[in-house]
Amino acid sequence: MPTVVGVPLDVNSSYLRGAAGAPQKIREALSSEAWNSWSELGVDVAGAFGDAGDLRLSNSAKEVGHDFAEIEQAVSALVAKGERPVLLGGDHSVTYPILKGFAGHNAELTILHFDAHPDLYDEFEGSRVSHACPFARIMEEGLAKRLVQIGIRTLNRHQSEQAEKFGVEMVPMTALPAFDRVKVRGPVYISFDMDVLDPAFAPGISHHEPGGMTVREAIAHLHALEGTIVGADIVEYNPGRDIGGMTAMVAAKILKEILGKMILQD
Ligand code: MN
Ligand code: MN
Repeated sequence: MPTVVGVPLDVNSSYLRGAAGAPQKIREALSSEAWNSWSELGVDVAGAFGDAGDLRLSNSAKEVGHDFAEIEQAVSALVAKGERPVLLGGDHSVTYPILKGFAGHNAELTILHFDAHPDLYDEFEGSRVSHACPFARIMEEGLAKRLVQIGIRTLNRHQSEQAEKFGVEMVPMTALPAFDRVKVRGPVYISFDMDVLDPAFAPGISHHEPGGMTVREAIAHLHALEGTIVGADIVEYNPGRDIGGMTAMVAAKILKEILGKMILQD
């Protein structure tokens, strides 16, 4: 059964804080009376997933090591019980300790990473755990066999070199739609950064990068996905930047479609 876990951590966000407030807002939106609990795939997600609540994190710069260990342990414990964690960030730095939590449980993991940014910096503004770096750490430590990035539209020379070094399979925004690229074999982990969407659809994010996916394009790629979904995260929703809660509903919609897909695999 998929199990939702809130990860209220935004201390590794380089530009703006605020994503730590996301988990509760996404839960509220998911259970809003404005809509029903059915995924477009024809499955009622209500009662078909667990909720382990939010992790208790200090969310302070001095305690990042402690907070990362908490995240890793929580994920590892769920995966050891055969559950499939669905983490609600938080900034994107959380994906590194999440993947550490999967280590030893799932061999040959493929990560499908939706993002405007490759997040492959070796270090960013003096930090190696910045939300601009998680996929460099993940690939250095061999925590995934394949990394497929979708929707990228901010590639610079350094990150292009990093992508080549780590054998990253990058699907830039200009190459979409790319439904064949999300049909993978074996266990799949989905990392969904809300800024892959155009800011017109999801303004409640820290880094507005115009020219992104529509909500429909994102859902179409999620629905086209093949492989066994062992876990997922939805990160970078920043309620402080939202307009009338519209991005919370979009995040909850993406959550509902990911849950629906996972429940169909139960
Ligand atoms: Mn990201
Ligand atoms: Mn991003």
